[in-house]
Amino acid sequence: MSVWAVLAAAGSGERLGADRPKAFVRLGERPLLAESLERLDASGWVDEIVVAAPPGWEEPVILLAEELGCSKVSSCVTGGKTRGESVRLALAEVPDDAAVVLVHDAARPLVDDEVIERVVTALGEGWEGAVPALPVADTIKRVEGEQVVETLDRDGLRIVQTPQAFVAHVLRAALAGDVSGASDCASVVEAAGGRVKVVPGDPRLLKITDAADLERTAALLVA
Ligand code: C5P
Repeated sequence: MSVWAVLAAAGSGERLGADRPKAFVRLGERPLLAESLERLDASGWVDEIVVAAPPGWEEPVILLAEELGCSKVSSCVTGGKTRGESVRLALAEVPDDAAVVLVHDAARPLVDDEVIERVVTALGEGWEGAVPALPVADTIKRVEGEQVVETLDRDGLRIVQTPQAFVAHVLRAALAGDVSGASDCASVVEAAGGRVKVVPGDPRLLKITDAADLERTAALLVA
């Protein structure tokens, strides 16, 4: 069973206020992308990797992969305008005989083998997709403007992370439609009728959005 990883790294990261795309801001001594790239490359579950790079940053991505000795990186594509488009463009480089596609956001640097194992093995149980998720600690309300209109039952809610694993042909079919509003790949697979399993996530898989997230993740790296 071949597992291809798609690493979505094409975001601009405007909220970080840096002079470069998010994938290339510093996390400790290295570009943010180095962490997830190296970890996916080292994973026994991953056979090949396709990276979606920010426009104009394809060459630096390839150089970084070479520098890190990431031999599983098979290609680097120019990302699209949205995350969904970037994943679709990267998926076009994944061969038809790939069994599983693991989609991961470079914005979550601390991916490890245990969470990859949990999502990939779920597919062996017959699920079409699997996502790592954490319980919701806060109370979540739906609002319209300034007014609260509903308080949701948090027992039935989860905070969903990446990496997300999919049966390759299921993801390909789902991404063929409109993906512009999708914040993750599972939502597109769910909308197409796919069965997606929730597995335990990892609190270390913080998503880097602003400078404070970078500091928190850097602290976890040295801990
Ligand atoms: O923007 P946000 O942080 O939600 O993006 C999540 C992930 O999707 C990031 O790793 C980012 O690099 C990636 N992305 C992408 N192409 C885009 C927008 C975001 O690959 N056009």
